[in-house]
Amino acid sequence: NIGNTENLPQVLQNDAEGIGLFRSEFLYLGRKDYPTEEEQFEAYKKTVQTLAGKTVVIRTLDIGADKKVDYFNLALEENPAMGMRAIRICLTRPDLFKTQLRALCRASAFGKIAIMFPMIISVDEVKRCKALLQDVRAELDEQGLTYDPHMEVGIMIETPAAAVMSDELAKEVDFFSIGSNDLTQYTLAIDRQQTTLDSFFDAHHPAVLRLIEQTIQNGHKAGIWVGICGELGADLTLTEQFLRMGVDELSVSPSAVLGLREKIRSLDLTK
Ligand code: PEP
Ligand code: MG
Repeated sequence: NIGNTENLPQVLQNDAEGIGLFRSEFLYLGRKDYPTEEEQFEAYKKTVQTLAGKTVVIRTLDIGADKKVDYFNLALEENPAMGMRAIRICLTRPDLFKTQLRALCRASAFGKIAIMFPMIISVDEVKRCKALLQDVRAELDEQGLTYDPHMEVGIMIETPAAAVMSDELAKEVDFFSIGSNDLTQYTLAIDRQQTTLDSFFDAHHPAVLRLIEQTIQNGHKAGIWVGICGELGADLTLTEQFLRMGVDELSVSPSAVLGLREKIRSLDLTK
């Protein structure tokens, strides 16, 4: 998991097999205006070229809630974690979204990019995202610009709605990546930022683990791969359970890669 191209050396130093979550928000944060298509293209291109053939899963813009950007001019909300954020902003402002999709598609010509959409709650949202992606591809075709037509398209499973609907959602995408941070927050109805609620918070709550297992099973029934990119993926006390559930990929911060790999190699799942 990385949140900036400055983290790329750590990815290589820790021998990661790819990037399972590239948080693209950094391109939008800490500035006064929207990043251009060209700026984004250069960042994505640099990332895939550095990874030299390994997959880079880039998450589209997940702004809102705890990540505030003034120039987006979002209305003040009482409950921003449940408000205008992530894919909701992108589907409300398709021009903004299409600029990012164009940059991503163009960069896909230089390496192995997969794209994923955050905070999905319905099949309809996925269809709308895919339709916009299709529009972008048609525009690029018209302009004679190249892209990888086989780029994988996935979604994050980080709302209870998405986990419960994962059988239907799986028919629409190439992979699922489980965002356990938000999935836990929304399943337990406990604000992930609110430390005063720590005594109520159970990172291993069975409701969350059941939703994860159900998502993996539904993904596999439809023949797609399922990863975990939230913090739980790095929780070594759950690694065996996740592998027994059949998880296909665990995406963690660079500093957690080697410890996790050692843990996986120490397990004997035949027992
Ligand atoms: C998650 O919600 O688990 C996730 C990976 O996304 P973020 O932590 O960026 O919200
Ligand atoms: Mg999230």
